[in-house]
Amino acid sequence: MPWYNKIMIGLIFDVIEKTPFSHWVIMAVSFAILIFYIFLFAEDTKKRSGKFFLIFSFIVFVWGVTFIFFDASLETPNIHTMVLFAYFWAGFVAPALFIAIDSFSNENAPIPLRKFIYIFGPYVLLSIAFLIPRQIVGYQEGAHGGAGEIVFGPYALLYVLYIVVLVSLVLGILIKRYRQSAGIFKLQMRDLLATFVVTATVALVATLFLPFFTGLQNFFWFGYAGGALVFLVVCAGIIIRYNFWSFKIITSKFFITIIFFALLVEIFFATSTFDLLVKLGIVILVMFASFFLVGSLKREVLSNEIIGTSLGNIDDLRGQLKVLDKKKSEFLSIASHHLRDPLTVIKGYASMLSDGDFGELPPMVKESVDKIFDSSGRLISMISDFMDISRIESGDMNYIFSDVDIKKLMLEVAGEMRQSAERAHLSFSVTIDEGDFITVGDEGKLRQVISNLIDNSIKYTPKGEISLLLYRDKDDNKILISLSDTGIGMNEFTKQKIFKKFSRAEGVSKTYTEGTGLGLYVALEIIKKHDGKIWAESRGEGQGSSFYVELTAKKA
Ligand code: ADP
Repeated sequence: MPWYNKIMIGLIFDVIEKTPFSHWVIMAVSFAILIFYIFLFAEDTKKRSGKFFLIFSFIVFVWGVTFIFFDASLETPNIHTMVLFAYFWAGFVAPALFIAIDSFSNENAPIPLRKFIYIFGPYVLLSIAFLIPRQIVGYQEGAHGGAGEIVFGPYALLYVLYIVVLVSLVLGILIKRYRQSAGIFKLQMRDLLATFVVTATVALVATLFLPFFTGLQNFFWFGYAGGALVFLVVCAGIIIRYNFWSFKIITSKFFITIIFFALLVEIFFATSTFDLLVKLGIVILVMFASFFLVGSLKREVLSNEIIGTSLGNIDDLRGQLKVLDKKKSEFLSIASHHLRDPLTVIKGYASMLSDGDFGELPPMVKESVDKIFDSSGRLISMISDFMDISRIESGDMNYIFSDVDIKKLMLEVAGEMRQSAERAHLSFSVTIDEGDFITVGDEGKLRQVISNLIDNSIKYTPKGEISLLLYRDKDDNKILISLSDTGIGMNEFTKQKIFKKFSRAEGVSKTYTEGTGLGLYVALEIIKKHDGKIWAESRGEGQGSSFYVELTAKKA
């Protein structure tokens, strides 16, 4: 075993044997505080408050070490200097905390030099009193070699006052910021405020008030460790809770630190120079590996966060679009209503005029009135299509289902449309199969579909015929409406798209100008709601088209 090994092991056992429980606690807590703030600082080195909290944690750490040295110096002449140093150092805890909290609560503003002078200035003056023992504090050795005690001098009250004022100022900042803040920052401030009140009370009572006012000095370690521990645990909690750190990263860093320290201890137990080198090599390797591991973890967490926020944004946008779409549909529906009502009145009067209800019209005038009648009719059906679209899209298309006799319905619609077909010089035939044609559906809407199909056939058939057929497939329990014409027909491409919104065949406006490309889309939506099918067939352009509607017959 090399010489340094024996010394190390001897030393370690010596320390373990002689160290009381309270010192272990102080050491553990002060290390934990320092490591915690080193982590916090490393997380974002640019953050101003991170630096000040690191300084604060270093001061707390050294303060913890002074307790241990204080105990070690008992019964030696060094105890006098130790007491002075311990109290002198402890005096920095409150101002350091003030600066850290101040910069934390207002991260963007740099702390002016003035503030440092106001905060530390009084302490520098007070420090002069530390140069002379027993002005602030001192050590009184026990009589006849008995236990001694810490004694306070005439300026001790100023020292206590300085600390109490600073702690109150910190409390003031926290309360002020808590009141001013909102949202997540308010919650963060509330938690910090509560933690501060608890820790400050524990620490002040045990390390300052009890010794100063009552002479009780046995609770130092409890005040230090207890206060620091609460602060540490709650701060870590706040950080995790408000997602400042990812839990994944913290745990990895924590375990890496433990592994690192374990390996470091291993170095002291090296049995040969070679062993020492190997162990050193392992420590370095682990350091590098952890560096990359934490780096990649951070990237992963960051990209998850980015994905999370992007998904959130997409969700928001989708919500906004839905609202806009609904508004658009509402607008369309209202606007359409206001257009359709006066148009219906125009159409009605045109019809009455044309029919001679107000007296016979000269042929020229009658022709014009008929044009008014036709155009207003077309506008009304166009507006009806728009209204249907807006209802379909807003989900407000209401269906009233009841038994519908398709045969009766078809004959009625065919009767109404016959005139239009004849006016277009088209022959119009209706063939109806044997049997029942009852289905469950919305009569008004089915009427709309059939009349739309017949209307299309008239529009897109320059000459020839239109045949309407009604079949009943008893085996399959289906009703099939077929409408064939000898019109412009359509190619494959057109056939695919005509049931889509605003879709018309290319060049179709030469045959019929005013189409909107909405009728078949509305028809498809209506038939879908009836669990039926609607489709078109054609042998090609100029070869006529057939449209089919299939509905389920009501079981007898
Ligand atoms: P619109 O007739 O107002 O254009 P539709 O949705 O009713 O709207 O029809 C869409 C398209 O389908 C028409 O523009 C036309 O190109 C085609 N189409 C519809 N019916 C026929 C038909 N009977 N013959 C040929 N093409 C048709």
